[in-house]
Amino acid sequence: MPSVVTFIDLKQQNHTLGLFCVECNRWGEADISSLISSGRGEYSLTDAKFRCRDCGELAEKQLRPPVPVIGGAVAYIRS
Ligand SMILES: [Zn+2]
Repeated sequence: MPSVVTFIDLKQQNHTLGLFCVECNRWGEADISSLISSGRGEYSLTDAKFRCRDCGELAEKQLRPPVPVIGGAVAYIRS
């Protein structure tokens, strides 16, 4: 990842941005596509602030790498 990560970088690398409100104990996810389409794609992820729509508190950000594609194989053996 480059030193300044933007929303466009996130989308290109298939990352998502989880958002967590401590007050509400609630997880959400940033709508990166709509941030980009509304002209905020070049914004720095580090500087971006998100507020909880319920209580207005600043949300914690969690960068999420792409989820690996899980095959249909049985991953565990019952012991
Ligand atoms: Zn909240």
